[in-house]
Amino acid sequence: MEIQNSLKKETTERLAYLFFMDQHYYSKEYLQAVREELQDRNYNFNNLNEHLYIRYFMEDLYVGWRKEAKRMFAELSANGWTYQQPIYYKYSWGSFTMKGFHTDAHELLHSILNKYLNIYGETCSSCGSKKQVSGSLEEPLCRKCELKILKKRRIKNINKFGFTYYRNKFQHVLWTEIKRIEFVVTDDHSFGITLSKLTEKEELEKEYDEHDTISFHSDSCNFFKLVTKIPKELLTEHQYREIHNICNHFEKCMVCHRKSVFDDQCLICRNKISFIESPSSKSLERFKTKAGILAHRQKDFKRILKVLPAYKYSYETDSFFKSK
Ligand SMILES: [Zn+2]
Ligand SMILES: [Zn+2]
Repeated sequence: MEIQNSLKKETTERLAYLFFMDQHYYSKEYLQAVREELQDRNYNFNNLNEHLYIRYFMEDLYVGWRKEAKRMFAELSANGWTYQQPIYYKYSWGSFTMKGFHTDAHELLHSILNKYLNIYGETCSSCGSKKQVSGSLEEPLCRKCELKILKKRRIKNINKFGFTYYRNKFQHVLWTEIKRIEFVVTDDHSFGITLSKLTEKEELEKEYDEHDTISFHSDSCNFFKLVTKIPKELLTEHQYREIHNICNHFEKCMVCHRKSVFDDQCLICRNKISFIESPSSKSLERFKTKAGILAHRQKDFKRILKVLPAYKYSYETDSFFKSK
């Protein structure tokens, strides 16, 4: 029943595409449900054509890759490919792969796919630029777009009344809307928080709405500022103590000079301070003195600031780490 309901929300064209792909992808049960839904809509099964196939393929791709995908299909077509040889592609663990075709295909077609897979890896998934792109097939982004995304992910306007965050658009949340808080320390240097607008009971009864739960990880800009501003009454005694113990524990980093070292690990430059203060004989051999090691780390951090926007952004923007 659940499958049927979810299919009702899809457009007929999209269903036709799913049905076409289904013959290669999904379970018989799912395929049957799609077929029935299409029959209910009096769909003519001969309607799917190359144009539609390509259009829906594009919709599954990052926007920035679509221009290249058009070129890919033109090249495939020129070499004898038809949409009756659907491309086997998927996103897995954040990475995009094309593993050939669902049917037999000429070696030349495979080599065209592989060529384009390499091109996608070097093309910004957001704007299509090929300049200063990093991230390979895991959502490659040019520096400009990465910075744009980082800016959106920054939690802002944090005060005793609430905060602003981005999900589809900027959303302002009042602390009075929050009913439950979960604070987790996932390992020694990684933290997460989930703020829920529903009580446990409401969560069971209400239909799912993505805006009811707000989650942040400690890599979000201003994460620690946010957690220190949570009104005490929203936290259990244990949570309150845990959060404030952690937040009062940060020390100044000798490499990047932010107050960002927790338990020996800097959350900004990612250096382990003990590696500098009590260096291994190997690194002493290489850099002669502790000061030499420190100078090397500082130089390396300056280099990283230039090439990795995420480091630069949290270094320049996170107000918690800037505090004295
Ligand atoms: Zn871009
Ligand atoms: Zn540091």
